[in-house]
Amino acid sequence: MFCPKCGSNVPDSTKFCPTCGALLADEAQQAPATEPQPQPQYQPQQPVYQAAPADNNPAALKVSQFFWLDFLTGIPLVGFILTLVWGFGGDVNENKRNYCRAKLVWLLIGIAVTVIFTIIAVAGGGLAALIYEQY
Ligand SMILES: [Zn+2]
Repeated sequence: MFCPKCGSNVPDSTKFCPTCGALLADEAQQAPATEPQPQPQYQPQQPVYQAAPADNNPAALKVSQFFWLDFLTGIPLVGFILTLVWGFGGDVNENKRNYCRAKLVWLLIGIAVTVIFTIIAVAGGGLAALIYEQY
């Protein structure tokens, strides 16, 4: 073996270098070997954390895509079907899907308001009919 300090050829059995006096025992050889071991354990974790946000970041829709999305989903009946398909379809851009879901919420609000006003109108008409019958 060779001395790690001065590089002179030393018999394997000796514990100290006869030239420079450096320690050649097992402890001296193990010391540098234990240091690099913890480092590879930390390194593989970093690319995992860096790659994860890329999946949650879908491609942004262009202005023209929003333009036609608003137009197509605004068509009566056909637009409603398209909104349902894009809103709950599996392989749809996340921006497009969320837009369609938001549109469906407005649609439900519209239906709810229509139902409420219809009930008020029917009830009001019925009440009016009752009042006019009495006179
Ligand atoms: Zn030496």
